[in-house]
Parts: sequence; C-alpha cells; structure tokens
Amino acid sequence: MVVDMLYPPFSLTTLPNVGSFANRHNFSGGPGALPEPVLEQVQEAIAEAPGAGVSILGVSHRSAWFREIVEETEENFRTLLSLPKGYHVLFLQGGGSLQFSMIPMNLLRGRGRSSDYLETGYWSRKATAEARKEGAVRVAWQGDHEDFSRLPTNDEIALDPYAAYLHYVSNETVEGLQFHRVLGSEETLRICDMSSDLLSRPIDVERFGLIYAHAQKNLGPSGVTVVLVRDDLLRDIPAGLPAMLDYRSFVDSHSIYNTPPVFAIYVMLLVTRWLRQDIGGLDAMAQINYAKAERLYRVLDGSAGFYQGHADKDDRSWMNVAFRLADRTLEARLLAEAGEAGFTGLEGHRSLGGLRASLYNAVTPQAVDALCSFLEDFRLRHREFAGERE
Ligand code: PMP
Repeated sequence: MVVDMLYPPFSLTTLPNVGSFANRHNFSGGPGALPEPVLEQVQEAIAEAPGAGVSILGVSHRSAWFREIVEETEENFRTLLSLPKGYHVLFLQGGGSLQFSMIPMNLLRGRGRSSDYLETGYWSRKATAEARKEGAVRVAWQGDHEDFSRLPTNDEIALDPYAAYLHYVSNETVEGLQFHRVLGSEETLRICDMSSDLLSRPIDVERFGLIYAHAQKNLGPSGVTVVLVRDDLLRDIPAGLPAMLDYRSFVDSHSIYNTPPVFAIYVMLLVTRWLRQDIGGLDAMAQINYAKAERLYRVLDGSAGFYQGHADKDDRSWMNVAFRLADRTLEARLLAEAGEAGFTGLEGHRSLGGLRASLYNAVTPQAVDALCSFLEDFRLRHREFAGERE
C-alpha cells in the first residue's frame, strides 16, 4: 500500500464511530483533536498510570516502566508503517521547527554539496530559510507566485543529481496541499516533513532516507517529534555537533538521552494502540480519512461558488481543507455561527486567512458530517445575501 493510491468513496454513515464525541467538534490545525478513548485513558493516567503506581506526570524517565513505554511506542510505529529493517525510530523535542535545522546540521554541513528544497507553502518555506543558515540550498520549485495554490508536476521540479538530499513537505498544513505521490527518482535521498500526515495513511518508508513529524496533528500532544532515519545516514554526521542536535545521541540512548517528554510519549503510545486496535491499521485509517475529505470537498464543489477551496483539485489535502467564502464579509459570521453550533478551530492560518477544517485521524466521520450539514445550511440561509444565483 503506498501514498500514490486513492480510495473509493465511502458513505460516512457506514463508517465506525471511532474518536471524539466531546461536546465541541474540534477542527483545529494543531494541536488537533485526540481520540476520545485516548483522552479517557489520559485522565486515568494523570491520577495513576497503569503499572507505574504513580501519576504519569511524575514517572521517572529512567524507570523500567518508562523504558517499556518507549519500546512499545516504537514497536507500534514499526508495525503501523511496516518499517523495514535499518530504520531508527527516534523521539525528540523541539517540534517540526528544530528538524528544519537539525537536518542540514547533520546531513548538509561540511559535505561540499548543495541540497534541493521544494517551496510549496508556508512550512516548506520556513524549512528552506533555516537550511540556508547551514549550507547551500537550491530551490527546485516554488509556488508562491501562484499563492501556494498548487503543487508542481514532476516535470516542473528541477532536481540536482548531485544534491545531498531533497527536502519537501508531504502535506502543507496551512494551504491544504498534499502530495499524493513520492517525489524524485530512486537515486534521490528523500527527506520529508510529514508533520501533518504521518500515520494518516500507509507510506513506503523505504523510499525515504529520513521522515519527521511532530506529534500534535495525528500522533499525540505537542512536545514530542518522531524521526524515522535510515541507519546509513548517520555515518557522515560531522563531529562536534552539540549532543542534543546530533541524531546519534538519541539512537545510542534509545531516545532517553536526557529527560524526554514522558507525558507526550505516553499519549503517543495510547494513540498508536488506538490506531492498531480500534481502527485496525493505516489502510483502515486511510479509508476513513479519504471519505471525510471527500465529503467536505463535495460540499465546497457543490456550492455554486459560495465556498471556494484554496488548493487545486489534484493537490487537495485529506487532512487540511482550506477555503474561503466568495463574499469575504460573511466569513466572520460563519465562524461565529459555527462556534455557537459547537464547531471550533475553523479559522484559517494567520498567513492565509479564510477558513480551514483540519480532518486529522481523531476527527470523526460524524463530526465531518455535522460540519457539512452546517455549511450547507449556512449557504442556504445566506446565499441571497452573497448574491448567489442558481
Ligand atoms: N511542519 C509542518 C508541516 C507544520 O504544519 C508545522 C506546524 N504546524 C511545522 C512544521 C512546525 O512545527 P512546530 O510548531 O512543532 O515547530
């Protein structure tokens, strides 16, 4: 199963009720919704973590109990992603942003080569700017002249065959653009920021040298960042890096180099268990996610221009649906009415404005269904006002 694969449409009503049934439907771009069964277990663990005898907030990171938590979490990633041999699973701090720096520090500094970066949106642009502080960067494609409304075709990407690596962002969280294919040739060392879509669908990890994702979208709370890195990339890391910025410190210590984010890792364990046991793995998760996105895009497309999606159709994200209203003056009213109706987190990113519905793993099909009904109802109530003619 690979990311290139698309799924047939499903009826949302036939999908299992998995995830959050809190009073409010959370469509936040991140930190995002977490599954309700996980939140229930977290509440118990704050009182007393099962097997630890104390609150999860007071467990020693040097305890045998916590080492087992790290091992099981790692094992869950390995199983969910069918991780091939030769990859390390690391749990770091510093968010996605620290990876923007650690990657060029470890894999570009002192190599005498340049790196290829794609600038496809707000976050990849940030990554590029940080890499420039460490070494030579070629921008192999950039989309800001088109308002980051689409992704490049393969022909448009100018790759340097001698580049140390290619860096790109699989899902641009702000603009709602997602690659539904793997980029580059088999010679390309691919490095990918999957902060907003890791564990949302199956991927072929072996086609990447390094994958990273902070937790606060699909994996858990903020505070921990997952790095999957192929062993051979560790060979040429320059000497003298601060230990906290050198991947090898975390490989050698099994992610317990210093005090790790114990709580965030524990929640990630519960989320990955939920994915394995309640959802049934990433194929099942992908079907649910595809159905959710498809349902919402259908509402936008069927609105006679009342709602306008930001991304080109082929590059639409299953995770983040960025859109506007043809009548911009209605956006504030929509947000206010949505808030009253129990929907939260729908404001667009500050850099883009408009609206954004994030449909991460824990956002239930039922929540998406409710949002779609709300949007359709809002349109019917306001289309005259917006000058819509049908
Ligand atoms: N990459 C992507 C794709 C993101 O969406 C974000 C933040 N939402 C980041 C990187 C930065 O992550 P952090 O805030 O954890 O540094």
